[in-house]
Amino acid sequence: MRPFGTTVFAEMSALAVRTGAVNLGQGFPDSDGPPEMLAAAAEALRGGQNQYPPGPGVPALRTAVAAHQHRFWGLEYDPDGEIVVTAGATEAVAASILALCEPGDEVLCFEPYYDSYAASIALAGAVRRPVTLRPAADGRYAFDPAELRAAFGPRTRLVLLNSPHNPTGKVFTPQELALVAELCQEHGAYAVTDEVYEHLVFTDAAAPHVPLATLPGMRERTLRISSAGKTFSCTGWKVGWVSGPAPLVSAVLRVKQFLTFVNAAPLQPAVAVALGLGDDYFTGFRDDMQARRDLLVAGLTDAGFGVLAPEGTYFVTADVTPLGGRDGMEFCRSLPERCGVVAVPTQVFYDDPAAGRRLIRFAFCKRPEVLTEAVTRLRTLAGGR
Ligand code: PMP
Ligand code: GLN
Repeated sequence: MRPFGTTVFAEMSALAVRTGAVNLGQGFPDSDGPPEMLAAAAEALRGGQNQYPPGPGVPALRTAVAAHQHRFWGLEYDPDGEIVVTAGATEAVAASILALCEPGDEVLCFEPYYDSYAASIALAGAVRRPVTLRPAADGRYAFDPAELRAAFGPRTRLVLLNSPHNPTGKVFTPQELALVAELCQEHGAYAVTDEVYEHLVFTDAAAPHVPLATLPGMRERTLRISSAGKTFSCTGWKVGWVSGPAPLVSAVLRVKQFLTFVNAAPLQPAVAVALGLGDDYFTGFRDDMQARRDLLVAGLTDAGFGVLAPEGTYFVTADVTPLGGRDGMEFCRSLPERCGVVAVPTQVFYDDPAAGRRLIRFAFCKRPEVLTEAVTRLRTLAGGR
């Protein structure tokens, strides 16, 4: 693990605290999730649910995860044997890779990739094969199908697919998913899907969210991951889950028992309550976040950034070159001093930093007044060019 330093999220959040800047770096909301969920957690905490829960997770949560996936995506998973609760999606990703990969196996992922992917792949002694997402003429990020095809080979063990995608806000289209599915089947590869932003696809996205596991031939080779942090604004709870066919899920459980064993006993029943909330919660959450996206996208555009409008997630990426920036890392390190705002450079999420050199990421999962203040500060940049 020698090549891995402090994560960019920790570095930039510390910078925000130190400088008193508005933190649009690390993606965490600044208000609480549904009151029903918080009340259920308090009740569980006071009601004695404070010891080790069962290894795969409390039954109420596994049942709720199964019901939620059936309700929104038509997917059927048996709560007994096909679902495991994890310490956030982060542990779910790590345990899935450790469960499926032997040293030397290749893991295909799309860059920019979420930072824990590279570390988890390294922990398994596996090799990452990134395929680059590049901004296309229509302002959307896309990959070259030939590049994806060429990245598959005899050592490809799995494809790690994150859609809706952090940091780009890209939602993979049905055609793109169909190609991934076709290549997985052609090469006998598994898929591990990180769908933590499954409820954050905006109404103007070109396509709705489609779990890869719903495509023909994919359920039996896919481990599908999600977590409560984003959907219910409780990123500090670290309650996630993996769903898939029993043999794969049992391999994940075997790994998980030696990573954390179990986690979050009193929070698990509370997340079960949240997963069962009415459709109005989920659409309200999305609409609210979409309004925040619109506020930040308009503000960044006005401030002079080259904005790549996202179709989903908490994040928007922007090109710093119209503001005279050359390197996103330098730009982000000086931004708090220049105007009191923190963002993260996306080059750290690429194997090929040149591909993301000019891009930085802002999070819009913040209260509107906080976004407005950030935008006011960012507008001063153009004046100082
Ligand atoms: N995957 C992606 C794409 C993320 O953005 C995040 C951050 N929420 C995670 C995984 C980690 O999720 P968790 O906090 O549930 O571990
Ligand atoms: N998922 C969040 C982000 O992408 C934060 C993750 C972290 O701090 N490890 O900003």
